[in-house]
Amino acid sequence: MVSNKIYTVPQRGSPIGVSALIVGAGIAGLYAALELWRQGIDVQIIERAPARLTTGFEPTLWLGDGFTIAHQVIRSFRNWPYLAEKNKEIAFHPWVAWFNLKGEQLTEPRSIEDNAASQSQRDDKEGDSSQGLYRHSRPKFHLMLEKQLEETGLKVQYGKRVTRYFDGEPEGNKRPGVELDSGEVSEADLVIAADGIGSHSTKATLGYEARARSTGFAIYRATIPVEFVRSDSELMEKFDLLPNGHGLVQLWFGKTTQATWEANESWTKHVSPQQVIDDTTSKIEGWPDYVNRLISLTPDDRLIDFELVWRDPQPVWTSPSGRIVQIGDAAHTFFPASGNGANQGLEDAISLAKCLRIAGKEHVAEATKVHNKLRFERVSCLQKIGICSQASQYGQEGNKSASSVPKYVRALMASWIWKQDPEAYAAEKYHEALSALRDGVPFRNTNIPESHTYQPWTFEDILNEFKAKGDYELGDDGWWN
Ligand SMILES: Cc1cc2nc3c(=O)[nH]c(=O)nc-3n(C[C@H](O)[C@H](O)[C@H](O)COP(=O)(O)OP(=O)(O)OC[C@H]3O[C@@H](n4cnc5c(N)ncnc54)[C@H](O)[C@@H]3O)c2cc1C
Repeated sequence: MVSNKIYTVPQRGSPIGVSALIVGAGIAGLYAALELWRQGIDVQIIERAPARLTTGFEPTLWLGDGFTIAHQVIRSFRNWPYLAEKNKEIAFHPWVAWFNLKGEQLTEPRSIEDNAASQSQRDDKEGDSSQGLYRHSRPKFHLMLEKQLEETGLKVQYGKRVTRYFDGEPEGNKRPGVELDSGEVSEADLVIAADGIGSHSTKATLGYEARARSTGFAIYRATIPVEFVRSDSELMEKFDLLPNGHGLVQLWFGKTTQATWEANESWTKHVSPQQVIDDTTSKIEGWPDYVNRLISLTPDDRLIDFELVWRDPQPVWTSPSGRIVQIGDAAHTFFPASGNGANQGLEDAISLAKCLRIAGKEHVAEATKVHNKLRFERVSCLQKIGICSQASQYGQEGNKSASSVPKYVRALMASWIWKQDPEAYAAEKYHEALSALRDGVPFRNTNIPESHTYQPWTFEDILNEFKAKGDYELGDDGWWN
C-alpha cells in the first residue's frame, strides 16, 4: 500500500495507456474516476456546477437529503481504506416504522436489515458481514468520494457544462469527445457520460435525445438540522430517538394524489413551506398540526419540489463506436423507493473499470459493450422492483399488522442483490459475454434472480397491472431469494 500522513490510497494498477473523460461529478462519476484510476486508466472529470457544493464535513449547501447504500457497494470499499473508515463514521443505521397520514403508527420499529425476506437471509453471513444497509446524508457521502479522489491527486474540473457528445470513428482515427457551452472541445479515448438523468448523451447512444418523462408522482424533499426543532417539545418527542438509541425513519403512507406537471427532476426547484401546507397537507384529512409546524420550520431554500421522472429500460448504453458509455442515472433511472439509484451507479463504476482493465488499450470499445451486457438485465430487474415498491406502498394505509413489511421492500433485500461483487463478476464473465457479443454464443447473466429470463417491459405495463389486479407478479424464479 502507498500511504501518506493522513490517508492511504490503494496500489494503482499499471497504466494501460487509455484516457477517459468523465462528464458529471455526481456519485457515479466520482466513483468511476476512483475505480478507473485504480485500474490504471488516466482520468479527467468535468462538472457543470461552478464549484464544489459542500465544504468541510458541514455541508454549506445542502443539495440532496439521504439515500441508502447497500452491502455490495460498501464491500468494495475494502479497496479504499479512507472510504472504508469514513463510511463507518458518517453512515447511520436508523430503524423503520410505517405510519398512516394521521400520524398513527402501524408497525413496530425494526432495523432496516431486519426487514429482510427471511430469517435464513438474515443468518446468511459472509465473513464478518451480512447484508448491511447504510443510510447516508448524500452531501456527506458525495464529499467523502471527492476527498478520496483528491487523495489520488485527481481534481474535479468545475464550471464545465457539456452541450454535445460526438462519437469517435475508429477507422478515421477520430476520438470521441464533448463540446462545452463555452465552445471548448475535449476528446479522450473514452468518454463516460455520468451526467445524470438529463444527460445529452442519448443522442450519441440512441441517435436521438431520449428525455425522461413525467410519472405523475412528485415529492417534497428537505433535510434540516435537529437544532431547528429543539424549541418545540412536541416535535422533539414525536421524532425522538428510540430507547435503543437508534433514530426512527417514519414512513407515512396514504392514498396517492395523481398530479401532472412538466417533467423536471430538479434539485434546485424550491418551494415555500406555506405552499406545501396550502397545496397539499391542508387537504389531507386528519393530518396532524405538529407536522405542519415541522414543515414551517424548514427554511425556504431547503425545501425542494421534486418531480419523479422516468425513462423505460434502455438496453443500449454505448455509442456505435463503443467509445462513449453511459453510467448511473444517465444510463438508467430509478425511483427513490427503489433504494438503488446510487447503488447501481456505483456498481456501474466498478464493473466498467474492471472491464477496461481486462480489455486493455486495444479493446476499449469491446470493454464498454461487455460491461453493458453484464449490467443491463440486473439494473432492469432492480428498476422493476423499485416501481412495484413505489406503487404498492400506498396500500399500507389499512395495514395494522405490526410484523408486516411491504413485500417489495423485502424483495429489495434479496441475496442475489447484495451478494453480488461487480468486480469479481466482470472478471468471471468477461470472456463469456464477449463470445456472446462476437459470435452469438448463448450467455446467461447470473447477477439477476436465479432462474429469471429477462423480458422487455415498460413502466406502463407495471402500473396497468397494479391498476387491474392491485399487484404485480414478479414470479417465482428467484426474485425473493
Ligand atoms: C444535487 C443532487 C442531489 C441529490 N440528492 C439525492 C438525495 O438526497 N437522495 C437520493 O436518493 N438521490 C439524490 N440525488 C440523485 C442521486 O445522487 C443519483 O440518483 C444517483 O446517485 C446516481 O448518481 P449519478 O452520478 O448517476 O447522477 P447525479 O447524482 O444526478 O450526478 C450527475 C452530475 O452530472 C452533472 N451534470 C449534469 N449535466 C451536466 C452537463 N451537461 N455537463 C457537466 N456536468 C453535468 C450534475 O451537476 C451532477 O453533478 C441527487 C442528485 C443531485 C445532482
